[in-house]
Amino acid sequence: MQIGVCPFCGVGCEIGFENGKIHRVNGVSSDHKLCIKGLFAHKFIDAPDRLKGAYISKDFLENINENIRKKIEVGNKVIFQEKEFFEISYKDAAFIVAEKIKEIKIKYSEKAFAFIGGARTNCESVYLFQKFAREIIKTNNIDNCARVCHSPSLKGLYEVFGTGASSISYKDLENTEVILIIGANPFEAHPVIFKRILEAKKKKDIKIITVDIVPTKTTKYSDKEILIPPLFNLPFLRLISLFIYENKLFDKKFLEKHTNNFKDYFEILKREKETLIKFFKKYEPSLISEAREISKLISTKKTCFIWGLGVTEHIFGSETVMEIAYLSLLTNNILRKYTGVMPLRGQNNVQGACDMGALPNYLPGYAPLSKEKEGLKTPEIIKAIKENKIKFLWIMGEDLLHSHADIDYIDQALDNLELLVVNDIFPVKIVKKAHIVFGIKSTLEKDGIYINAERRVHLGKAFIENKNLLDDWEVVKLVENYLKGSFKYKTNKEIWHEVENKVDIFKGITYELLEKNMLNSPQWPLKEHIFEDGFFTKDKKANFIPFSIKEVLNYIETSYKNLKEDEFILTTVRFYEHYNICSQTERIENLKRYNEKINEILISKKYMKKLKKREVYLERNGKKVGPFKIKFKEHFPENIVVAYMHHKEINKLFSLDKGDKYTKTYEFKFLPIRLIEK
Ligand code: SF4
Repeated sequence: MQIGVCPFCGVGCEIGFENGKIHRVNGVSSDHKLCIKGLFAHKFIDAPDRLKGAYISKDFLENINENIRKKIEVGNKVIFQEKEFFEISYKDAAFIVAEKIKEIKIKYSEKAFAFIGGARTNCESVYLFQKFAREIIKTNNIDNCARVCHSPSLKGLYEVFGTGASSISYKDLENTEVILIIGANPFEAHPVIFKRILEAKKKKDIKIITVDIVPTKTTKYSDKEILIPPLFNLPFLRLISLFIYENKLFDKKFLEKHTNNFKDYFEILKREKETLIKFFKKYEPSLISEAREISKLISTKKTCFIWGLGVTEHIFGSETVMEIAYLSLLTNNILRKYTGVMPLRGQNNVQGACDMGALPNYLPGYAPLSKEKEGLKTPEIIKAIKENKIKFLWIMGEDLLHSHADIDYIDQALDNLELLVVNDIFPVKIVKKAHIVFGIKSTLEKDGIYINAERRVHLGKAFIENKNLLDDWEVVKLVENYLKGSFKYKTNKEIWHEVENKVDIFKGITYELLEKNMLNSPQWPLKEHIFEDGFFTKDKKANFIPFSIKEVLNYIETSYKNLKEDEFILTTVRFYEHYNICSQTERIENLKRYNEKINEILISKKYMKKLKKREVYLERNGKKVGPFKIKFKEHFPENIVVAYMHHKEINKLFSLDKGDKYTKTYEFKFLPIRLIEK
């Protein structure tokens, strides 16, 4: 049986392939489990609209320089996203890209270049992509889709611990005593992790506490469901810290030995106590006793903290992650066995894309760049395109016209590019704006390394042979070879060898080691515990960086004050049967019956009588998206509308400018909207 990695979520399950079928295997991450998406993951491979090679857009071809035109051959006409393209060989496509790069560089300099993507492909490809950007083009304008999800987790954890990844494994979750889940619904979004937790819970006394804004399938299976109003994450976590401090529930010896600045943090807690308590008394008094109870529990039990986009996709996403890290430090739930922190990562290689340095502010392995050298983050890249400052964009498996905020703005901005290159496996929405498209092998058709939410470095082997297509890194190499010719790599293994040699956190994680441990692959770094030699900061101590809660409380109060009487708060989530932009899952026959569900919204049953129609549009600042079918929910808080991020137009409503202040991750979890009856 061939062993590979599921192409979908950040759980990163090992999958087996034999006799044309996917099988559950006893992998260290999957534990002989798979969700419905993983089980049918091979079924999109032969979808009729699969990209089968390279393509050039008709308009672009017509305007191409005559000297280039003479040297290339074009094939049949094809239509993608209602736009005409011609088939072209990979070599000719790469030649054109290289020639345009030369032209754009002379015309505008390296400042006019940007690169986005890598979380859906293997580490070898994303490593080469960032190397191409940095060493060949000389730009740090490179980013990946962590920008729309867990960049605040990276920022928050990096500030406190010196590294931005999970400190634990799924095994730790099975052996801990308390799991505090904040702003996440792993039952649907990270199903294998949650299944493992539930099975472990049958044998051990594990308490699951879930903090969220609406009841979910995860809260249903939790020992305690704490519903908080949208935006209340950070104040609620701060309240727990306050009670830990006030009741001396913290581990002083641990704090003195392993942390900096905890006394300053305590000062802030003391100073702002009245303000914080007053805030909760005014808005949600019941949360005071809940916070008190949690403070007692997590300071006496081994605890793991896990969270999702309900934490990060907010204005204060990074600070909220810092507060989670502080809680883990106050209660010494970070260095002990079966304790720690885990952001539930989204894409199957989003951890790997960050580790490989597809980020504007870090080189591979998180070597930070100075402020002056930092490149642009994706929302800044989009703005720079609109302002005609960036003229070249290469996208590797990320649909900016679906997964990012303010799609209409992006759609217009992309018209300003002189060259948009898109690598993908299907003609997703952004293909309509592309000049050159490279159809690429999918995860199941290529070897490669993927790093999951627990930092586990998986080597996946190709299940299905596809000799007609290239991998992403092979395309990057082709283009580079027309420019400089320094990329000589012949195999994935050669690229990984370079990564392993150059990047400290991967020392010892060789291809050979991974080949021998396909079902029991290691986490980076090769250590018993990530922090066994201390935190990743200069003095090996974790940092408390005290910040006032007042600005946060003011922001919340203003946000609610500005909410008009007829407005609801829109939040987006994903559901079990589909994966993010659905480009793969919507083409899987077995999952197609869930395609309709994408057009549903959830609201409280309380509105059943008030709303005459069962279909509505969502409206924001005159922009209307829909229609959506309403699904009324019992025990659902008032004023909240839940929509699915899978919906192709929903992100039109969100703003490109509103998001986490450090990372610019969009605020997808709080948007005032109106319901317009159809
Ligand atoms: S939990 Fe995630 S990685 Fe595992 S099978 Fe499902 S989609 Fe794939």
